[in-house]
Amino acid sequence: MFTIGAHLSINKGFENIGLEALSIDANTFQFFPRSPRGGSAKALDPDDISKFEELMDNSGIDVILAHAPYIINLASKSEKTRNNAYEIFEDDLKRLDQLPNNMYNFHPGSHVGQGVEKGIELISDSLNTLIREDMKTTVLLETMAGKGTEIGRTFEQLQGIIEKVELDDRIGVCLDTCHVYDAGYDIKNNLDNVIDEFDSVIGLDRLKAIHLNDSKYGLDSHKDRHEKIGLGELGLDAIVEIINHEKLRNLPFFLETPNDVSGYQEEIKLLRGLYKE
Ligand code: FE
Ligand code: FE
Ligand code: ZN
Repeated sequence: MFTIGAHLSINKGFENIGLEALSIDANTFQFFPRSPRGGSAKALDPDDISKFEELMDNSGIDVILAHAPYIINLASKSEKTRNNAYEIFEDDLKRLDQLPNNMYNFHPGSHVGQGVEKGIELISDSLNTLIREDMKTTVLLETMAGKGTEIGRTFEQLQGIIEKVELDDRIGVCLDTCHVYDAGYDIKNNLDNVIDEFDSVIGLDRLKAIHLNDSKYGLDSHKDRHEKIGLGELGLDAIVEIINHEKLRNLPFFLETPNDVSGYQEEIKLLRGLYKE
């Protein structure tokens, strides 16, 4: 089954976002549990959540993906910034415990000159106290484009974090197609090789979700500028191969393309037509 959705706003509550997803023929969605620039989060409404749970039971929506605020940096040089990131992360995980089947995607962080090793250590130290045995959510490290001092531009860096996390059955990876291409993994011409490399470095069992985006810039550009499906450097043929690849096709796909809701609807229609059932 093809699981595809887009990034939607939860401003109108979870039942409404679920209905909006279904209205554009999506069977999952991504959302910010709070403003992408941080700030405090609205309290969850238990009545809205139970209606949303009912909607999930009665529709094809099986899993949903939360995206952490962009501004958090568990690898910061500043203790204050790290603590702030930790508190947001911890609070988000607590809130996500109240929601049905979900995962929490975050940008691993930027080492801001301290070096990759130090950054990996700071991130994994935090994860070791943030990830609790009793939580339901799976935490996903996102593959990054390698802008500035971003950690997560190579599979080795992500594995460096994962191998230091003790409760590692609660951790996975979300592969962003724009980011990995920008990072220098040629998923346009060598998709099989990149997947094999992911498998040998991290293990495909860790791959839990795909951010499906075209890229405005080319291979190894480290720009992180998403483009609409088929209009970027990856192009439609490469994206069709990705959604149909035997090792990827059963994962949930999330569009983060520069679109409004009707633009997402068109892309979902296009991609559903190109997915080989
Ligand atoms: Fe992201
Ligand atoms: Fe992404
Ligand atoms: Zn991005």
